Amino acid sequence: MTVKLYDQKPYDRTFTAVVQSCQKADRPGDVLFALTLDQTLFFPEEGGQSPDTGVLTPQVSTSNKPSVSVLDVQISGDEIIHFCDRPVEPGSKVTGKINWAHRFDNMQQHTGEHIVSGLVNKYYGFNNVGFHLSNETCTMDYDKELTPEQIEKLETLANQAIWDDLPVTAWYPPADELAVLSYRSKIDLAEGVRLVKIKGVDLCACCAPHVSSTAQVGLLKIVDFRRYKGGMRLWIKCGSRALADYRMLHDQSAAVSAALSAPRDGLLDPVCKNKDEIDQLKASLSEMNQTLLQEKISRIPADQAHVCLIEPAMTDDKAVREVLNSLTEVHNGYCAAFFNMQAADENDPGSATWRYSCASSRANCRDFNDQMKDTFTIRGGGKNDMVQGSVTADEPALTEWFMRSFAH
Ligand SMILES: [Zn+2]
Repeated sequence: MTVKLYDQKPYDRTFTAVVQSCQKADRPGDVLFALTLDQTLFFPEEGGQSPDTGVLTPQVSTSNKPSVSVLDVQISGDEIIHFCDRPVEPGSKVTGKINWAHRFDNMQQHTGEHIVSGLVNKYYGFNNVGFHLSNETCTMDYDKELTPEQIEKLETLANQAIWDDLPVTAWYPPADELAVLSYRSKIDLAEGVRLVKIKGVDLCACCAPHVSSTAQVGLLKIVDFRRYKGGMRLWIKCGSRALADYRMLHDQSAAVSAALSAPRDGLLDPVCKNKDEIDQLKASLSEMNQTLLQEKISRIPADQAHVCLIEPAMTDDKAVREVLNSLTEVHNGYCAAFFNMQAADENDPGSATWRYSCASSRANCRDFNDQMKDTFTIRGGGKNDMVQGSVTADEPALTEWFMRSFAH
């Protein structure tokens, strides 16, 4: 059994312990060593939360690398297993050091989750039915749907609880005390249940380390919410994550503000106006392209069987399709268009990628694809009357191939 030092001392960063066992880990793809200690500060992956990482340093070491890295921590029954990059001899005394920035970040997010879940339960009677805390996101699921207004109210109340600097305490109540307590995440155990209390906000069974007062959560922002399995999923950012998020948004809005010469608190209107203008320009550009192409194809002699259009700047699939439809009404061979060219490497024109479409009223377009495949690298497919895809080639090679294959 591993003594869980993190249970009582969530703010300790270093500890000493004795290695109980060490063996090669049986995990696919990893060459790690599974190590157990008599006691540990490393919180394992548990209750939806990512594990602590850090280092173990043997007090007597013969290696030129004094520390081994703890890359993952899992719990199995009473034992906490530290997955390390190198082995340590059983019986060795080690000093352990957890990655404090990661741990404190987890403590901030996790305590924030308790505040919100406690408030959801207190004000609306809904239950928290899921929690996930990774290094990037913190989500919690509730069994009923919340309205946007309720979510905004919860965010305000959560931050009020943070500013109130409420104590957060954890303890294992004796059986008689536990029996009469009403708490969230009720566990069917008479004792050995660890309760975490946020004064006036929440009482919940939980095994993870938390901050000791709500003020240390710093700031709580609900950054997203969606309907999920008949209830609601909320995404939150607390403390350092909320600050990083605000910085990112600040930098982005400052850049957009400079680009549009608009004040930072009035970006929405000019951005929407810009988008409308772009949509209108795209529509008129597409119309002009269409007119130009129709003009171009009207000059192709009607008795020419096969037609090849090379239009590197053309990006409009719909316009291409319409042009090919007009062409197949006059020309009964292959009517092909190579368009939307992407130059992969400026010094190697042969690495350019084109979209292509080929239609025909009589010839089998799958044969066109097969012939192209003999000469170029292509991705594509379709039916007898139309094929499309992408091809890698330079323009002269495409023209030469089409002339050689079909213009006789
Ligand atoms: Zn918890």
